[in-house]
Amino acid sequence: MNLLAQLDHKFVWHPFTQMRDWLKREPIVIVEGHGAVLRDVHGREYLDANSSIWTNLHGHNDPGINAAIQRQLKKIAHSSALGLANEPASLLAANLVHQANAVSRSAFRAPRLNKVFFSDDGSTAMEVALKLAYEFTRRTRGPKSRPHFLSLEGAYHGDTVGAVSLGHVDLFHKAYSGLLFKTDKVMSPYCYRCPFNRARPEREDAREYRKCNWECVGLVERKFSAQKKRGNPYAAFIFEPLMQGAAGMIPQPSGWLGQVTNIARAHGALLVADEVMTGFGRTGIAEGKRGKGEKGRIPSAPFPLFPSASPFACHHEGVQPDFLCLAKGLTGGYLPMAATLTTQKIFDAFLGRYEQFKTFFHGHSYTDNQLGAAASLASLEILQSKKSVRARTKLEQTLASELKNLWTLPQVGDIRQVGLIVGIELVKGWHSREPFDLRERAGLRVCEAMAKRGVLTRPIGNVIVLMPPYCTTAKQVKRMVTALAGAVQEVFTRT
Ligand code: PMP
Repeated sequence: MNLLAQLDHKFVWHPFTQMRDWLKREPIVIVEGHGAVLRDVHGREYLDANSSIWTNLHGHNDPGINAAIQRQLKKIAHSSALGLANEPASLLAANLVHQANAVSRSAFRAPRLNKVFFSDDGSTAMEVALKLAYEFTRRTRGPKSRPHFLSLEGAYHGDTVGAVSLGHVDLFHKAYSGLLFKTDKVMSPYCYRCPFNRARPEREDAREYRKCNWECVGLVERKFSAQKKRGNPYAAFIFEPLMQGAAGMIPQPSGWLGQVTNIARAHGALLVADEVMTGFGRTGIAEGKRGKGEKGRIPSAPFPLFPSASPFACHHEGVQPDFLCLAKGLTGGYLPMAATLTTQKIFDAFLGRYEQFKTFFHGHSYTDNQLGAAASLASLEILQSKKSVRARTKLEQTLASELKNLWTLPQVGDIRQVGLIVGIELVKGWHSREPFDLRERAGLRVCEAMAKRGVLTRPIGNVIVLMPPYCTTAKQVKRMVTALAGAVQEVFTRT
């Protein structure tokens, strides 16, 4: 075994990994990356089909981002945000505020997002929103109030204790229940497995052929009303807009987000949008698009669905949250940096004379990191370029057309694409929708077989994720999908 692999085996503990299995085989040791291609220590090449756990936007070794980091490195890598400001963080905050408000304001009833709190990763971006929402609520409802939060079934918002408290994935979170504060959950619109969906399975995304009466929205309304009756309306509603990622790539049918956020607002809850995965163009070029055959079924939208160039998923349905949490793609996938955007109203609640101690007592050593901010600015510039918009539109279409080939496989139950995010749910047979037991490791086995074919991704249970970097060529997309098909055939003809 290669020396680096030996050192890994001896010393490194990997995230979300059963280390007993890990230690049984030689790991892939990555030494280089260019565009959508990763190269390992033996010179073998792989396509990065999940953008290095959903972080990378424009490809590896992007010349623009590389140059921006190098320019910044010649000046300074990091100075503290505690007591000091710096050039790239100031510019980045201004840029993010501009982008978060650059869509038709007439569509929003909410005020502008105009303050940015930087941190390190998705979990810390959520912690910041959570603590601000908690303390803002106490300051407005009174110090004796007990702010209570509502999030979605299957929610995953990170692995720090606050973020885990907002989560509802038993497999990850149950063991730590003694450490967590209680939050409520409400049904998320998982059309493929929705008990209210009366449609029989078809060879199409379940959102397209579903037969329901938006019972999921009714449940959200009921949940908010019940909590109000208890005399303690929810302080905040936390959600991933358009697609829940770690829940298993669960997409929301068009109109859901607008309806439920309207309900939340009507009940006085703050909106916390976790765009850690969905932000920065991942959900496609915002157009307020509807699924096929949706026309008659969307209850009249409370806002105009409008075309826009917003990189944020919320804006696809005209939703402006009170907190917008960003990480992963912020730096283009180069460095760990995150941002929590919020409103003047929240900010003002923390103003006061020094001795009132209304300060937001929260921060991280690397808050406002210059290298991360420089990378982010370069990444945003690429993202806004016409070339990138064109490439992403094309990539989204290519992906959609390649994915159609997978419907011929009996183990493919649902194919869920939102922009450049895809979840493919594997089942025992598409007619029955019968799931594989997690112990069968169906998703893991398929991903291992894909790796042998030179395509790297990670499953979420029985869901295979495809989330290519934006620079991925049509040929590379084809290879990703072909590898997936080959892997499914190999794994399920063996069993
Ligand atoms: N929110 C969402 C939606 C995520 O997908 C993730 C990570 N997968 C997180 C938060 C946590 O981000 P991080 O791993 O950077 O802490």
